[in-house]
Amino acid sequence: MLKKLSSISVHGGENRAFGSVTTPLVQTSTYFFKDTKELKGFIEKTHHHFEYGRYSNPTREAAEKKLALLEGGERCLLFDSGMSAVTTAILAYVKSGEHIVITDDCYRQTTNFVENILPRFNIDAAIVPVKDYDAMEKSIRPETKILFSESPTNPYLNIIDIKKVAEIAKAHKVITMIDSTFGTPYNQRPLEDGIDIVIHSGTKYLGGHNDILCGAAIGSAEKIEPILQLQRIIGGTPDPNTCYLLIRGLKTCAIRIKHVNESAQKVAEFLEGHRMVRKTYYPGLPGHNDHKLAVKQMKGFGGVVTFELDGNWEKTEKFLNSLEHCLLAPSLGGPETLVTHPASMSYYTLSGEERIRIGILDELIRVAVGLEDTEDIIDDLNQALNKCR
Ligand code: PLP
Repeated sequence: MLKKLSSISVHGGENRAFGSVTTPLVQTSTYFFKDTKELKGFIEKTHHHFEYGRYSNPTREAAEKKLALLEGGERCLLFDSGMSAVTTAILAYVKSGEHIVITDDCYRQTTNFVENILPRFNIDAAIVPVKDYDAMEKSIRPETKILFSESPTNPYLNIIDIKKVAEIAKAHKVITMIDSTFGTPYNQRPLEDGIDIVIHSGTKYLGGHNDILCGAAIGSAEKIEPILQLQRIIGGTPDPNTCYLLIRGLKTCAIRIKHVNESAQKVAEFLEGHRMVRKTYYPGLPGHNDHKLAVKQMKGFGGVVTFELDGNWEKTEKFLNSLEHCLLAPSLGGPETLVTHPASMSYYTLSGEERIRIGILDELIRVAVGLEDTEDIIDDLNQALNKCR
């Protein structure tokens, strides 16, 4: 049995039909039965067969097996986006009159869903400050079903104590879900730390090439089952081509993350030392608030570095417009280094006052380090920073 993640990335879950080295892309929406005997075998589960594309597909099945192995879970369910995974997983575990607890630093659309969509179904939520474990525990009520969190968070890269979250939830018999998109299966192991369901936006490091949208929920077969049953109704399944590209991305996942961990550390150290940078946020920096926890909990600190430019909006704009190779774009986890300006990208719908209240300053910049040579990334950031002086 393969033990190392880079080997599992390559061989895990593959369905090498037809003697093909790569799992074939089975581009079909439906499947036929040779006769009613085969159909009966499928219904009675004595014969493995596919029925209809929304329910499964051989390429998707291989991708799910590979990702389950990588994350150390029994079962993985793929979705057509990360948000599809988040919303379906949550809806599978709460009903009208029930309650969820979520940390305030989660991905914006996740919080949006919990704050603005779930109340329509009479599902209430307590939004607790990230890392306030007392508030987390006190917010749990008899009708609380889910404790949802994320680590590292966006854009400040706060690290949540995953084991502590799991302990609190277990004591109150609440299901835990962790969005581990920024963490990746290589850098952190939420299932081993006691979490029930790990969620990913596979659009990021898992796909790894900025060319697909997908999501995943991983856990024990028992915990995934209600999500599977809901997904069969709601839809939200990835198409076979996306699954093919995901398998391809996953094959290099371990090696890419390892590279990006090293590269981002150097980028963070460079930014921290630059006179045009007021503050740098990266869990790998000893000065980061959660550095000690990150060292204990993570194998690497990921590819995202956030910093505050020492200047106003005009200087920030000058920096963004001076980049030559890093691209001004949302998202992360692909080969291209992407620079995001949270105030005018993910948070542009909020008023200036609201943005400042939640710490999204005009001069805040997020760098999702890609696979270019580190020296070239630093050179580009450096020349753009120097133009803002
Ligand atoms: N979770 C996190 C942490 C994210 O950053 C994102 C997207 O940026 C999502 C979930 C949603 O994923 P998707 O864009 O694939 O729907």
